[in-house]
Amino acid sequence: MNKRDFIKLLSAGLAGPALLPLVPRVPESKLKNWAGNLEYSTDCLYEAQSLEEVQSFVRNQVRLKVLGTRHCFNDIADSKQYFLSVKSWNGLVDLNPQARTVSVHAGMTYGQLSPLLHSKGFALHNLASLPHISVAGSCSTATHGSGQQNGNLSAAVSGLEIVTASGELLRLSREKDGDTFSGAVVGLGALGVVTSVTLDVQPTFLMRQYVYENLPLDQFKNHFDAIEASAYSVSLFTDWQKDRFNEVWLKARVDAGQAFDAGSEFFGAHRATKNLHPIAELSAENCTEQMGVIGPWYERLPHFRMGFTPSAGKELQSEYFVPREHAVDAVLAVQRLHDLVSPHLLISELRTVAADNLWLSPCYKQPCVTIHFTWQQDWPAVSKILPVIEKELAPYKARPHWGKLFTTSPATLRTLYEKLPEFIELAKHSDPQGKFRNEFLDTNIFGA
Ligand SMILES: Cc1cc2nc3c(=O)[nH]c(=O)nc-3n(C[C@H](O)[C@H](O)[C@H](O)COP(=O)(O)OP(=O)(O)OC[C@H]3O[C@@H](n4cnc5c(N)ncnc54)[C@H](O)[C@@H]3O)c2cc1C
Repeated sequence: MNKRDFIKLLSAGLAGPALLPLVPRVPESKLKNWAGNLEYSTDCLYEAQSLEEVQSFVRNQVRLKVLGTRHCFNDIADSKQYFLSVKSWNGLVDLNPQARTVSVHAGMTYGQLSPLLHSKGFALHNLASLPHISVAGSCSTATHGSGQQNGNLSAAVSGLEIVTASGELLRLSREKDGDTFSGAVVGLGALGVVTSVTLDVQPTFLMRQYVYENLPLDQFKNHFDAIEASAYSVSLFTDWQKDRFNEVWLKARVDAGQAFDAGSEFFGAHRATKNLHPIAELSAENCTEQMGVIGPWYERLPHFRMGFTPSAGKELQSEYFVPREHAVDAVLAVQRLHDLVSPHLLISELRTVAADNLWLSPCYKQPCVTIHFTWQQDWPAVSKILPVIEKELAPYKARPHWGKLFTTSPATLRTLYEKLPEFIELAKHSDPQGKFRNEFLDTNIFGA
């Protein structure tokens, strides 16, 4: 450790509460997000593993941000002062078979929770493309999977415990706290430290996954509803070239009377003869099992397997939620931009998400189709393309994913979220001095 790092560690340690050890940093390495495109503004990271540690830390700081598993691509999680991580506080709090709920500490990831739930006979309704992400961080940003009957992951939250700016523990439930609860679930880290999350569960189930190649755009235009209704979860991948979707991933439940008839053809696409990665050039080794092999829900709902690098790794991501009724028009609008988009793209994905009641969810009171872009890691190029996409999608009132890269203006965001004023009031109530705010929140939410 060089002198500079030592002095930094020492001074940070002196400024922090004695209760918490400062996590040792590897000399000269900088704290970054998962994709490595964002270097956070401070390296001062503390770890808490109990409620008392969280409360003590929060009481002693003027400003801090909680870090989850660092999978956001923008600076929503960034801090200039301190980070608090609850990564190692990741146990099961309670599994209640009667109420059909599970409560977990905030550091738990879906990858840790899912096999545990399955072994006890339970399942979650859905998962994102990867299981590596924390439950609390994912629900704070309205992370989603696919399926027209499936709400996003936040929609499964039925209870929350949050340490607010004063260090007090706020307990909220869907049953008792009405509006406050609806406002707090997709909290963007602005209300405090989520220390425990309670999720709805259901009896465990098995699934099969099939992939089809080359679905013509015309079939999508003419049969969008039938395609989306064909399985529990449907994902369409495209590079926006050749007027087709490169791959269609269908995830069918084995037990739900949805016996998917896996013919050799699906709306003009052909069934794949081996496992595929959404980015065709990459090895499918990282991907969940396909070819109709039966497996538990948590090994089929995500595209990527726990223990392997999801997606491409060195990449950027953006995503827009469009009200479902505009799905075909919005996709055709992006298709017209293919000459601009394709050279910088690794792959795009189209998914559907059911409506929910959560104030800052992009699916608030509207079922959505999501148009996602995995980009090459070239922000100067991508930052010029996003405003063009956003302009094309503006007539459809597209809402950007809170955890991915966007250039939508704060003024536009205000028009897209009717409950934003109420959310600001709620946040001010639990955090009057802005302890949990950062530049992202000040700019996009609080309008500073
Ligand atoms: C490869 C890859 C694939 C992805 N696939 C999907 C996908 O399929 N669907 C999708 O919707 N998104 C997807 N994402 C985006 C990602 O899942 C979300 O951005 C999610 O928020 C990540 O959770 P996290 O714990 O890593 O959050 P972080 O980036 O660590 O934090 C996100 C926000 O949550 C807050 N936060 C975290 N923990 C707490 C806590 N305990 N209390 C209070 N606030 C907290 C942070 O302060 C910050 O504001 C993907 C990302 C990657 C890198």
